[in-house]
Amino acid sequence: MSEETFYDYIIIGAGVAGLSSAQYAARGGLKTLVIDVSMPGGQALTIPTLENYPGLYPSVSGTQFCVNMKEQAESFGAVVIQKAVSSIDKISDVFTVYCGKEKYSSYALLIATGASHRKLGVPGEAELEGRGVSYCATCDGPFFKGKKIFVIGGGDSACDEAMFLSTLSDDITLVHRRDTLRAQKAVADRLLANPKVKVIFNSKVKQIKGEGRVQSIELESTVDAAVTEHSCDAVFIFAGMHPVTELVEMLPKDEGGYIKTDDEMQTLMSGMYAAGDIRSKPFRQVVTAVSDGAIAAHSAISYVMKIKDDKK
Ligand code: NAP
Repeated sequence: MSEETFYDYIIIGAGVAGLSSAQYAARGGLKTLVIDVSMPGGQALTIPTLENYPGLYPSVSGTQFCVNMKEQAESFGAVVIQKAVSSIDKISDVFTVYCGKEKYSSYALLIATGASHRKLGVPGEAELEGRGVSYCATCDGPFFKGKKIFVIGGGDSACDEAMFLSTLSDDITLVHRRDTLRAQKAVADRLLANPKVKVIFNSKVKQIKGEGRVQSIELESTVDAAVTEHSCDAVFIFAGMHPVTELVEMLPKDEGGYIKTDDEMQTLMSGMYAAGDIRSKPFRQVVTAVSDGAIAAHSAISYVMKIKDDKK
């Protein structure tokens, strides 16, 4: 392995956990590489206004926040590249990360690949994705300005995104399968007070219908199984996330499939850390992902220093 492709610390995933870890590790003296298949920022890129990050007041957009994080990490020497990681392995105390034919090596490795959107799995969802079915209001909302929009889910994402969509249309309907929202109280209260958003409780999606584009949605009551059809132009789905663990199937996970770590972000494999939404933990927020990343960097610095000391 050439010196150019050997790093102290490789981070897979350039979401806010990965970028935070890159900044702390590079500033702490580790030669650090961040690899992501997409542009840096991950899920946080889609946050219209990051209003609950302590001290970031007035708030900024998620996109601006991620651009700042990347530039801050780079200012300390971290290298951020856009490539798809195909596999990883570890021989002795060296990890190798394969990106097709290219490979990069390191002593410590952080898995920060986050979580992806859960699908509903109902008829019409896959067929009409990109034709009115969407999982990102910031990305696709502007295509439906002034249109009739349905939002599915009762968590923070559904409520936040419905609020954002209500800046584009007066005709938003949020559908939740239970009779109370899961979202944090402040988020839920604000949603319920928004006159542009109608909420249908106790209903689940049975089918999304349309010829070439979304034209209607069928809902089924969870109380009496009554089915109703509603015309609409778009269905934004926020049914939660599932962790992206394909690269590390060998690691122990909790019942939700999230990677188990200790308080130092250490996984069961020595020198391999996990941070952010992929990690088993009670509260997933930008601020907790950033914290995970910093702790992982702190652990990696001690680990790499010990390896280097042992080799002297
Ligand atoms: P979430 O909290 O897991 O909520 C998912 C929602 O989708 C739940 O209300 C769930 O219903 C519903 N759901 C799941 N499967 C469904 C199905 N098949 N059909 C219909 N509804 C379904 O996910 P999230 O809102 O994406 O949030 C993920 C994490 O990010 C959370 O920890 C959240 O706090 C955090 N987050 C925070 C903020 C913020 O602080 N402003 C913003 C976004 C996200 P049930 O309630 O019945 O389970």
